[in-house]
Amino acid sequence: MDVRVHPVPLGYTRSYILIGEGAVLIDGGNPKKVGSFLKSLKQTSLNPQDIQLIVITHGHFDHIGSVHEIQKVTGAKIAMHYRDKDCLENSFKPGVRGVTAWGRVLASLTSLMSPFMHIEPAEVDIVLEDEDFSLVKFGIPGKIIHTPGHTMGCVSVLLDNGDAFVGDMAMNSFPLRLTPGPPVFAEDFDRVSKSWQGLLDAGASRIFPGHGKSFSADVIQKILS
Ligand SMILES: [Zn+2]
Ligand SMILES: [Zn+2]
Repeated sequence: MDVRVHPVPLGYTRSYILIGEGAVLIDGGNPKKVGSFLKSLKQTSLNPQDIQLIVITHGHFDHIGSVHEIQKVTGAKIAMHYRDKDCLENSFKPGVRGVTAWGRVLASLTSLMSPFMHIEPAEVDIVLEDEDFSLVKFGIPGKIIHTPGHTMGCVSVLLDNGDAFVGDMAMNSFPLRLTPGPPVFAEDFDRVSKSWQGLLDAGASRIFPGHGKSFSADVIQKILS
């Protein structure tokens, strides 16, 4: 079964609609972006109600900002890891820690902005644990894998064909990074490396980051070795 990947820009975050026998949205972008979501959806043959599931890669505001509104127009279920779900359900804002000099500059700017950021809460329907979660019953040949490190509740979606949707496990756009690579913020960078190794071992070959264009997994393989 083929899966079509439709990138959806929601502010400076890139969400994705996966279209197989069913349709799944990955991430809910920046706040107040439901209009951009509906506009982008028009480029597909889908109606909002065709989206059956929203997978949230992690709890940062730029990935959960419009989930509440998108859930309302689609009626989709929301899946999120138990370690990050407080961010969406209770508008909890975790601190971010830079792992490079530039990451530290951006982290302090983010913490200045954070109190002004309003996230409309939404309830998580499918609470993900540390085990893999199959997407087959949502019409997508692939699974959700727990990939902690950027936050401890980060998850990635890995399709059977090797396409991997990794949220902020990878970044590939200004001002975060100029070239594709691992995140400039992480709660635990060693865990990021371990999660990457796990994802590569599981067959990830093309990487679709939460910020910027897709790239080959060889880039990450080189950085790790
Ligand atoms: Zn993030
Ligand atoms: Zn992000």
